[in-house]
Amino acid sequence: MDNKKTIAIIGGGQLGLMIAQEAHDLGAEVAVLDPSPDAPAFAVADRHVVGAYDDIKALEELCEGSDVVTYEFENVPGDVLRHIEGKYNIKQGVAPLFDSQDRLREKANARIHGLRTPDFIPVPALDFITPEEGEEPFPGNPEFPVPMSAEDAASLSRKERLSQLEKAVSVLGMPCVLKTRTLGYDGHGQAVIRENEDLEPASDLLKVPCILEKFVGFDYEASVVMVNDGDKIIHFPIGRNIHTGGILDLSIVPAPGLSDGLHESPAGAKIAKACEDFMKSCGYKGILAVELFIKGDDFYFNEMAPRPHNSGHYTIEGCSTNQYRELCRFLLGQPLETPKLLAPTVMKNILGQDLEAAKAIVAESLEGAGPGVSVSSPDDVDDAFCGQAGKGVFVHLYGKSQSRPKRKMGHITFTPMTPEEFMSVWASRFV
Ligand code: AMP
Repeated sequence: MDNKKTIAIIGGGQLGLMIAQEAHDLGAEVAVLDPSPDAPAFAVADRHVVGAYDDIKALEELCEGSDVVTYEFENVPGDVLRHIEGKYNIKQGVAPLFDSQDRLREKANARIHGLRTPDFIPVPALDFITPEEGEEPFPGNPEFPVPMSAEDAASLSRKERLSQLEKAVSVLGMPCVLKTRTLGYDGHGQAVIRENEDLEPASDLLKVPCILEKFVGFDYEASVVMVNDGDKIIHFPIGRNIHTGGILDLSIVPAPGLSDGLHESPAGAKIAKACEDFMKSCGYKGILAVELFIKGDDFYFNEMAPRPHNSGHYTIEGCSTNQYRELCRFLLGQPLETPKLLAPTVMKNILGQDLEAAKAIVAESLEGAGPGVSVSSPDDVDDAFCGQAGKGVFVHLYGKSQSRPKRKMGHITFTPMTPEEFMSVWASRFV
């Protein structure tokens, strides 16, 4: 009799692919749902379903026969998941997903559970009251504006949108950032407002409910990935993240400024503890990534994702255990392992514009590698390559059928590698 457990994954992108690889290493099987017939995770899944995330029939087909269900994608409609929640074992629950799907709810939740955020208010709103001196606009304060409904926001004229934005900006002050409350990612659906001229173009976003945040002149960005099984909570070493054009470009670990050698400094440990306390206070189980802005001794919650995180790819080769494996252990009811950083590590995201360079790195490493090795040109490298390309260079190409600029096509983990070495030896290889 086959006693293998099956994990059902909603979403078959690169995160689903790497969850599936680790699930197999732990002896489990995987079923995957994705709307795209050539989703990367389908290549390794034991079973797959092509269907939309809000197609209840497709979701039921995915979950049927599985022992546990997870999601690799935040925007699975919360109400759809609620529908299948009681019927199947969605072990992380729907709450962390629901809380992360709306930036207003997400930031209010972070504050309520002990993490500082940039000041924020909803816009458009029914009323705006400028807070008294020293008073913060904060949910719970009587001055916190009441958000306008999506229907009312949609019916605002151009002039009304601009007037809404002007009022909101006068409450928070410039510079500030306007973001759509839902469905924003990688800098999409955002506008920075530094001066009056920025108001008019930004106000276009207000066709849908938005959040206005105070701009934080941070020193750098960082992220913490945690896994909580209810008894034990672990976190992976904090990474320092460098974004280009709103998309993660590099993760550097240990995070300069938050570490002593390979270990966390007291400042790093304080941040990790605050994030763990937040996760526990929210009652979230499973995996959670928290993105932070670091400014001097202060840190601010920016956003969270209840799934493996791009900034945690480095854990596959950089740590003694990785984010995908620990998520699978949680899902399969196995004890969690505390991760250790093995060496300084740099993760480089491979976007469409970097794909050729990544393939060239693989091709060069294989050239003259021995009899039977015929790969000598980047064009010969498989789109779904996953392996080592020279000492300490680990290339993951996700096998996406279409490459385009800014699309995440793969990543390379360099370890051991300091940021200085990366900058002097490797950075120039990429556009
Ligand atoms: P987000 O989609 O919220 O992660 O925003 C994308 C990027 O915009 C972040 O990684 C930051 O680099 C920048 N950003 C977002 N919000 C703020 C803020 N309140 N202050 C300064 N920069 C921000």
